[in-house]
Amino acid sequence: MRPTPLRLGISRCLLGEEVRFDGGHKRDQFLTEVLGRYVEWVPVCPEVEAGLGTPREAMRLVGDPQQPRLVSIKSGKDHTRALEHVTAHRLPDLDRMDLSGYVFKKDSPSCGVERVRTYNEHGMPGRKGVGVFARAYVERFPLIPVEEEGRLCDPPLRENFIERVFSYRRWQDLVQSGVTRQAVVRFHTVHKYLLLAHSAPHYRQLGRLVAQVNAYRGKDLVHRYGELFMQALAVKATVRKHVNVLQHILGYFKDRLDAQEKTELLGVIGDYHQGLTPLIVPLTLIKHYVQIFDVGYIREQVYLNPHPKELMLRNHV
Ligand code: SF4
Repeated sequence: MRPTPLRLGISRCLLGEEVRFDGGHKRDQFLTEVLGRYVEWVPVCPEVEAGLGTPREAMRLVGDPQQPRLVSIKSGKDHTRALEHVTAHRLPDLDRMDLSGYVFKKDSPSCGVERVRTYNEHGMPGRKGVGVFARAYVERFPLIPVEEEGRLCDPPLRENFIERVFSYRRWQDLVQSGVTRQAVVRFHTVHKYLLLAHSAPHYRQLGRLVAQVNAYRGKDLVHRYGELFMQALAVKATVRKHVNVLQHILGYFKDRLDAQEKTELLGVIGDYHQGLTPLIVPLTLIKHYVQIFDVGYIREQVYLNPHPKELMLRNHV
């Protein structure tokens, strides 16, 4: 069986297509040349799809940041209805495409996810807006990981987003395969340390849910587990939390290490804790021992390999 493609939505201009108001693009090298090798992009330009043409007048958000209007700066023409119309048609399409994430263009009055300039009636800007299309997307698909391309320049945010995307795809695959209670328990078991690296409270909450798996109706279980799982991964992993996980894992085989090996491994974890080495260094040594000692429970943990190693995301966190 062919694996399900990992499909991500993307603001079309980030792929280098000349759809911006000024006839230009905002091609993003990491997305097109690196991440693009692992995903199938689903490009969307809501302004062009709304028939606004390229080039077009520059636009901005105006009014209540919770319900802003999309207005051309010079002519004052209001395009809110046109954008809402195309959004209402596009979202069901995107639902059928089974996306596992979305990368939006920052600062755009249509695509920006946060801190988009919104002007009040006196023409003064505030930074509380969300683009018209992005807001509707996030409201309709609250579990799907979304990020702006600007924030993906930050290594921890980049790693977190891509980890969530791959995790969400695994969850989608499970749900689509006709999920059973047993399968949810198994899914939870292999994700335990990944969850712990993000949020101990969610880890405990999910553990309680899985312990009472028979008390839930199938649909309720899927809904509740999926929601908590994605909320947990959205909590930022930190160096301290990773150190905690590494020490937990070490507990599975430390009695089988000799004094020198133990000192070396603790030293490597300590170096990571102090910011002297990236996460990949202690992880590589831990994976080495997990293989040697054949620690099956740990070897199956998604935490050790949450995304393709070729992306080298853990070399920078
Ligand atoms: S930011 Fe969104 S609306 Fe603007 S050009 Fe890019 S895809 Fe189109």
